[in-house]
Amino acid sequence: MLTTNPPDPARPSPDTPSAGTSAAGHQPGPSTAAVHAGEARQKPGYSLTDPIFASSTYTFSDTQSIIDFIEQKQVREEYGRYGNPGERVVEDKLAALEGGEQAVLFASGMAALVGLLMAHVSAGDEIVFFDECYHRSREFCRKHLTRFGVGFREVKTCDYAAMEAAITPRTKFLVSESPTNPHLSVVDIEQFADIGRRRGVRTLIDATLCTPYNLKPLAAGVDFVLHSATKYLGGHNDLLAGTVIGSAELMEPVRNLRGIMGGVNSPHNAYLLGRGLKTLALRMERHNANGLAVAGFLERHPRVERVLYPGLESHPYHQIAARTMRGCGGLVTFFLKDADWRKTANVIDAVRIPRIGPSLGGVESLIEQPLVMSYWNYTPAERAAFRIPDNMIRMACGIEDADDLMADLAQALDRA
Ligand SMILES: *Cc1c(COP(=O)(O)O)cnc(C)c1O
Repeated sequence: MLTTNPPDPARPSPDTPSAGTSAAGHQPGPSTAAVHAGEARQKPGYSLTDPIFASSTYTFSDTQSIIDFIEQKQVREEYGRYGNPGERVVEDKLAALEGGEQAVLFASGMAALVGLLMAHVSAGDEIVFFDECYHRSREFCRKHLTRFGVGFREVKTCDYAAMEAAITPRTKFLVSESPTNPHLSVVDIEQFADIGRRRGVRTLIDATLCTPYNLKPLAAGVDFVLHSATKYLGGHNDLLAGTVIGSAELMEPVRNLRGIMGGVNSPHNAYLLGRGLKTLALRMERHNANGLAVAGFLERHPRVERVLYPGLESHPYHQIAARTMRGCGGLVTFFLKDADWRKTANVIDAVRIPRIGPSLGGVESLIEQPLVMSYWNYTPAERAAFRIPDNMIRMACGIEDADDLMADLAQALDRA
């Protein structure tokens, strides 16, 4: 027997609101939103979960339905580079979680950054960055956007006066990350947004490290939020994806350009991201708790010189973090006492639970020595400028038991 299809199988219909979107008068909490937002209540095949639409193209019943689609009388898909029904569900979930009107999904965080900037800047415009932003983001602007006549300036992170002073009549974007990586500086998001608003410049926050669970930059007045969904949003170290979220008006040119540049996710990848997002709030609670526990443990350890974690009172941005963030995530940076690069590497090599590798935000803990992982080919002077000493270790706490992570670090630190 054939099952009957609902009239518009892929899209939430107005008569079946999802529990995660704002029901009248009540805002769902972060877990309810993570599980339900963006999803139709009734789905194709009466499936509870959203299906994977493994289709590169979409068909029309007749010529009139093509015309109806072009004249925007029918919401549907046309071709995979412009959108996929499963991807739309994930985008709607991301937008709801972030409290924004529209999310556009890209094949990676970098594809999202490139897509956003290419859609919104032109020759003659300038971009101002805080200098602790993700190095590839700055590299794209410094080395590549400049080839197209877009100016690039960098000022010290959290120096709001310097950022404001760097604005010229040509400035189009102010860009920051918060918290930054690996120094975990926390930007005063309201002050940052306020500079943009007063000076008529768009603001962008790379919120990869905080996620919408810990901070909502759009609510503070920032224009765009960007995520490497490869990290906490996907959460399982098994996919690459990126997203930008903002107002429908500002995201429209971004979606258009994505359809031309083509940096889209496969339907299977979008499904994995949607699945990962269901547990975002649960995972973030554990990442926050593990990060704080491990940071506190390290701060008390005699072999550790210093710990950078915004949840610790010793962190220079603790007050801002405590005021604005629900938690500080799983990333912890620390410095070994009296250790050269070799001694530091010995600690990395002695851990048994965290795996050695770049990235963060997944269920598995990861550990690395930034000197080796990211700055091996830099001169000592360059490393000093980036504040990457030889004895620095960056640990991305996963969702394992904090006691196990601390016991493991204790035995590894005994080797130093
Ligand atoms: C990883 C990362 C990116 C880049 O994202 P990809 O998904 O690897 O392209 C951008 N910003 C931050 C803060 C990141 O951690």
